[in-house]
Order: sequence, then C-alpha cells, then structure tokens
Amino acid sequence: MGGGVGTAAYDAGVTDCLFCKIVAGEIPAKIVDDAGRTLAFADIEPQAPTHVLVVTKDHHPSAAAAAAADPALLGEIVATAHRVAAAAGIAESGYRLVFNTGPDANQTVPHVHCHVLGGRAMTWPPG
Ligand code: AMP
Ligand code: ZN
Repeated sequence: MGGGVGTAAYDAGVTDCLFCKIVAGEIPAKIVDDAGRTLAFADIEPQAPTHVLVVTKDHHPSAAAAAAADPALLGEIVATAHRVAAAAGIAESGYRLVFNTGPDANQTVPHVHCHVLGGRAMTWPPG
C-alpha cells in the first residue's frame, strides 16, 4: 500500500478497509478493549485459545507506517495488547505479538494490526 494522507491510494485504503469498517461500527466484531487510539477485537478465525487483534482507530497500512506517523502509537498498541492479555488471564503464562507485514508474511488486511496469541504453548520457528 503506497501513498500518504490525501492520496488516491490512501483514500481507497480507508474506504475499502475492513478494519476501518470495524472501527466505524459498520461491520460487527467482538470488541474486547476500546481505549485511546486503539481498538481490540476477537480474530474471526482464532489460531489459539486467545487470539485478539489490536488495531489503530486511524488507518495506517502497516506497523512501520504507524510508527512513521507517530512512534508513540506503537507503544499504545503494545500497551493495549498487554492489557488484553492480562484480561484474558495469559499475561503470566505468556503470549505472542505478531505484526504480519507484506506478502511474504501473509498480511491480508492492509491496516496495522497486532495479533495477540496465547493460551497454549507456541512453537518456534513460526510457519
Ligand atoms: P493478517 O493475515 O496478519 O493480515 O491478519 C488478518 C486477520 O484478520 C486474520 O487473522 C483474520 O482471521 C482476521 N479477520 C479477517 N476478517 C475479520 C473480521 N471480520 N473480524 C475479525 N477478524 C477478522
Ligand atoms: Zn483501515
């Protein structure tokens, strides 16, 4: 996804964006945390007993784009992810945070999202 605020690519990303629509309440989701500039909701296809996505309320195509726009935003995402983990009871047992970025990482939604995965032992390396 190229382009910054005001470009055609950016506007198309925002208007067509699945996660922007969830943030706007246009597509339903199981919201588990709503604070500040982030929203967290259950992944529709969970890969672990706890699988939550933390997104920014504003549209940023990737974690790097969000960091470039405002480094503090990444801190808010991680703080929300930890709060989600604590609420799910997995802060002590452990959890994995994943930002898939680009085709090789299988990023399927071009709106920054942090996967919070836990509730089972994870394997490494990831597939
Ligand atoms: P990624 O492959 O890293 O881009 O992750 C996108 C994630 O969004 C996948 O884990 C999907 O299961 C999840 N997902 C897709 N559609 C929805 C939806 N409507 N509500 C919640 N999660 C979704
Ligand atoms: Zn978006």
